[in-house]
Amino acid sequence: MRARSLVPPLAVLLLAACSGAVEPAPVPPPTPTPPPPATVVPPVASVVPAPTATPAAAVAAPEGPPGKLNVLLITIDSLRADMPWSGYPRDIAPALTAFEKKAVSYTHAYSISSYTAMSVAGLITGRYPGELDRSGYFFSSYPDTVLRFPMLLQKAGVRTLAGQAHFYFDKQHAGFHQGFDDYEMVSGLVADNKTDSNISSPQHLALAEKMLSDKANTGKQFFAWFHFMDPHDEYMPHAGIGPYGKHDRDKYDAEVTFTDQHLAKLFEFVAQQPWAKDTAIIISSDHGEAFGEHKRWRHGFELYEMLVRVPLMVQAPGITPRRIDAHRSGIDLAPTILDLAGVPAEPSFQGKSLVPELYGKPAEDRDVIVDLPRTSDNDRRRALIHDHFKIIAWGDDYSWELFDIGADPGEEKDLKKADKALFEDMKRRYKEAVGKLKDICPRHTDTLKGKDKHHRC
Ligand SMILES: [Zn+2]
Repeated sequence: MRARSLVPPLAVLLLAACSGAVEPAPVPPPTPTPPPPATVVPPVASVVPAPTATPAAAVAAPEGPPGKLNVLLITIDSLRADMPWSGYPRDIAPALTAFEKKAVSYTHAYSISSYTAMSVAGLITGRYPGELDRSGYFFSSYPDTVLRFPMLLQKAGVRTLAGQAHFYFDKQHAGFHQGFDDYEMVSGLVADNKTDSNISSPQHLALAEKMLSDKANTGKQFFAWFHFMDPHDEYMPHAGIGPYGKHDRDKYDAEVTFTDQHLAKLFEFVAQQPWAKDTAIIISSDHGEAFGEHKRWRHGFELYEMLVRVPLMVQAPGITPRRIDAHRSGIDLAPTILDLAGVPAEPSFQGKSLVPELYGKPAEDRDVIVDLPRTSDNDRRRALIHDHFKIIAWGDDYSWELFDIGADPGEEKDLKKADKALFEDMKRRYKEAVGKLKDICPRHTDTLKGKDKHHRC
């Protein structure tokens, strides 16, 4: 949620009032975050197992879900991939760790982008953010006409509900509420466009339990989504947790623990419900978080591993828990959720349903695209992950970085000059993959960042 001002200058407000526009105003670039004291943070991938050379073997399991399921999606803002279940040495998330043991869990999952406004939009539309009709501002808004997968669920008669805990998610900003029958916000949130100092998990848990207890919501097949916010900066202290230390990662870890404690209660609540046996639960994040890697802190702006590797795990009736090393992306969630609910996906969706492999089919490796379109605050970045290589394109592909993320998880050694054949091959793969995207310009192009002032989009 790396924040920019959402408070438009008066002139823009007047203009917006005249034009009927509701876009947030362009704002000056942020003051760079001063680096905190150095903390030794291992590269995300160094504590996450490398992919196996062969696809995960199929395990004996049913062919698919036993009927049309309810789906509960829990996303946790800024949750990095290096967590206790993937080798992080501090036991900061016992409930999530226990959940992972009983889940199909992806060791190489990527977010769609590296900050909320792009990544969550991609998740709920099943498309890359550069393909979406959008305002073009950092805190982008998305018009009602953009198809969101909950709209398809609604049309099929599935009840859709969501409870959110950041002002950007409210009905006046992003437009994420489209397609939900019941969409509620945690009350009493302080709107701050630079950071998030709200402590929202207790109220968020209460809201989730209230909404999930409502027979109008869960009396028939439903999809529910709750996006927990507390690991997002600012990293707030919590009585009884730690302190783990004085560095940012230490403070962040305490926020993860705090969130985990509330998720434990949510899992307990869900387990007691009559509908639990017919419900799939998906846990993931919208992006990671940086603690000094590549001189970055917090998130957004770049696509290095610590910003885009995320947990992804699914519990569902009839699955056999296992870990899958194949590369996957949040782009796969829209078709997966629809598939679990028994609702056909939309051909424009870019991802693929994970349901066959959740139920034991082999998981073949696939290339992953990560897309950060140009906005009022950042130039474009795009990455392609193929096997254990990753190529990152800057701007309109004017500059490149190439890494062997298997051997060099910290992305420290750019290989584009050292291995020209590999570089040409990865460039070709990248161009072929992104050539299939249907990029469009945002509605406001005048403030887009970029090198070429005459070709911003
Ligand atoms: Zn976020």
